[in-house]
Formats: sequence, structure tokens, C-alpha cells
Amino acid sequence: MNLHEYQGKELLASYGVEIQRGKLAYTVEEAVAGFHQLKAETGTEFCVVKAQIHAGGRGKGGGVKLAKNIDELKQFAGNILGMMLKTPQTPGGLEGEGKLVRKVLIAEDTYAPDFSACKEYYISILMDREKKRNVIVYSTEGGMNIEEVAEQTPHLVHKEYIDPTVGLLDFQKRNIAFNLGLSGNAYKNFLKFITSLYNAFIGSDASLFEINPCLKTGDDKIIAVDCKVTLDDNALFRHADLEAMRDTDEEDPTEVEAKSYGLNYVKLDGNVGCMVNGAGLAMATMDIIKLSGGSPANFLDVGGTADAARVEQAFRLILRDSNVKAILINIFGGIVRCDRVAQGVVDAYKNLGNVHVPIIVRLQGTNADLAKQLIDNSGLEVHSAIALQEAADLIKKVIA
Ligand code: GDP
Ligand code: MN
Repeated sequence: MNLHEYQGKELLASYGVEIQRGKLAYTVEEAVAGFHQLKAETGTEFCVVKAQIHAGGRGKGGGVKLAKNIDELKQFAGNILGMMLKTPQTPGGLEGEGKLVRKVLIAEDTYAPDFSACKEYYISILMDREKKRNVIVYSTEGGMNIEEVAEQTPHLVHKEYIDPTVGLLDFQKRNIAFNLGLSGNAYKNFLKFITSLYNAFIGSDASLFEINPCLKTGDDKIIAVDCKVTLDDNALFRHADLEAMRDTDEEDPTEVEAKSYGLNYVKLDGNVGCMVNGAGLAMATMDIIKLSGGSPANFLDVGGTADAARVEQAFRLILRDSNVKAILINIFGGIVRCDRVAQGVVDAYKNLGNVHVPIIVRLQGTNADLAKQLIDNSGLEVHSAIALQEAADLIKKVIA
């Protein structure tokens, strides 16, 4: 699950990480009121209007603007709120359709009073699965062009690996601060900053923190000016407060709907829809689809209890995707009986009435033969198979 910048900053601040402070606004009026409040609290003279969407690179698309007076604030907030913001990270990139901006963060100008005395760094924390370690990736070349830096001058990007059972050690913090060229108060402030940041990463069960820019101000403060936070979905049950930050407006509507039915659905861009019970079997099914010349249109795990109602919901989700040319249903009847699933498929097919693609059903396990009979005798355009190879051959035939 991804957080918005303002939510990520709230999380960081709760762990004592120094952040660029701000106020959230849904309208121009709220933006102006937020600025007055912010000014009273922080003394900031200017403010930055920042689009809140689940994508980075907002500055490049015109979604981050420094306002030097109320008129500019009104103008920028008015322009950004409601715009379809295109960034290198929104669907289709700068040429795509962009993402609707529903809210903005009115943030203090952390670069004041002397922009040129500030320095932008890059810091992220994530998990390196191969090394089985957490890793802090950092660079002196923070700011809006970090992707180019990583590509053209990779030696300027450093890594510090952290054994999760030991945690981030003091010598490692000093090593990072040293490589960033920090000294004096900036060095001291950075050690505090990275300690709190790592605690926040572990404490929130995050899978990614990206602070870019991490700013050193003219008076040697270290501040998170931006943050991207991704949390581990599998750990959200321990963080009700963070789970409450979910913004379904930013997520794929079909995936959100699937979740509300208890279905585990991920949209992909292939032509064969699949409906499977169990994540492992779903992965294997996607392989089979590939091997038979198709490509999966989705990942869908209907769970252990594939009853008629769930099968019907799953059908609806899959059929909404106009790329789907065939559907493969692959169920292993261990807890569920295959004949019950087969009945569910036949009922759902009749209920929906508009199923316009061939369906291949492969049922294996308890009552598989009975299930095959049920489907073969249903008179519908449903092909049944018991062996996976048979199913693969059928797919090959129907998508040819
Ligand atoms: P992103 O483009 O989505 O990564 O958004 P950021 O929050 O990183 O902002 C983009 C850029 O805006 C930063 O790299 C800064 O150069 C600039 N910026 C952000 N906050 C401030 C600020 O408080 N003052 C000034 N002058 N510039 C800022
Ligand atoms: Mn940024």
C-alpha cells in the first residue's frame, strides 16, 4: 500500500524525523487558510503547493510550485487542484492521460532564506531480497534528476546494507554521513535523522522509504522535503492507523472492488483471464498460459471457498477487461468439491448472460469426474478438462 506524501510525513514525524511541515487542502480557500495557519506556526514567508497523488516526479509535470504571495498561491492551487497531472511516473508517462489531483499540500519553504546555501541529498531504504538485508541507498546528488544520476554516474549512488537482526549500527550511520560529506552540526543532525528514519521504516513494516530531496539547510538542519512510502500489505493488520490512510481513489478500481469481495486480483495486460484457487496454483496457471502461447490478463485467487457467488463476482471482474479473449478456470478441489464449483460456473454463466468468450474449466480433485460431466452436459460454451495439459491445449486452440 502506498501513502501520499503528507501521510508519509505524518508517519516520519511521529518517529521524530524532521520534516517539511504543511497543511492539506482540497480547495483554494482551504489552501489560503492553511497557509495562514502554517505561517503562524512556522514563520514561513513563501509556500510550496504540492499535488498529492500516488506518483513521483510531480515537479517535472508542474505539480510542485513555489508561491511567493497570496495571489500566486491562489493561482497555483487553482491550477493544480483538479488537473490531470502527467509525470514520468503516472500511467503512460508525460504523454499519458495523467492522474487527477484531488488535494494539495501547502508546505513551508524549507529552502529559505538562502536557496543557494541548501543542498539536496537522496536517501531511500528498502529490502534487498537477494542479500536478505535491508539497504540504505543514498547519494549527494538528490533532487529531481536522481534517475539520470543513477544511470549516468552510478558511482555517486552508495549503498549501506543492514542486517535486520542487528539493526542499523552507529558506524554505519557515520559512514553514510561521511560519504555525504557532512560535518559539524549537519553531521550531528544527520545521525539523528537517519536513526529516526530507520526506526520509522522498521516500526511501520515498510517496504520502501524514499526521501528525495533530503535537504541540508543553510543553518545545517536535515529535513525530509519529500517522501514516498510503501507499506507491506501483509503487515497492515498490525497497523490499523496506517491502514486507515488507504486512499482507494488512487488505486485500480477493479482491484479495490475485488478486495471488497475478498478476492485477490491483480490486473495484467494479457489476453487470457484466469480464475484459480490458491496463489501458488495461480502462478503455475499463468506459466501454463504463457507456455501455450497466450499471456495472462490477470492474477486472480478466489481463495479456498470458490462458491457460486464468488465465481460470479470473479467472472464479472475478468469480463470487464476488453483484452480478454478466453478464460481459464483452474480449481483444485481439496476443501471445495469440484462438482460444486462446476455448478457455480454453470450458474454464473447463465446469470451473467453476456459471456462472449470461450471458457476452459480445469477441475482436479474431489468429484472431478462428476464436475466434468456437469459442464459437458450444460450445453454452454464451456470446455472442460481434467489434466492441465488438456487445458493448455484448449487454450492454444481457442486463442489461435
Ligand atoms: P517530486 O517532483 O514529486 O519528487 O516532488 P518534490 O517534493 O521532491 O519537489 C520537487 C522539487 O521542488 C524539489 O526537488 C525542490 O527542488 C522543489 N521544492 C520542494 N520544496 C521546496 C521548498 O520548500 N522551497 C523551494 N524553493 N523549493 C522546493
Ligand atoms: Mn521528490
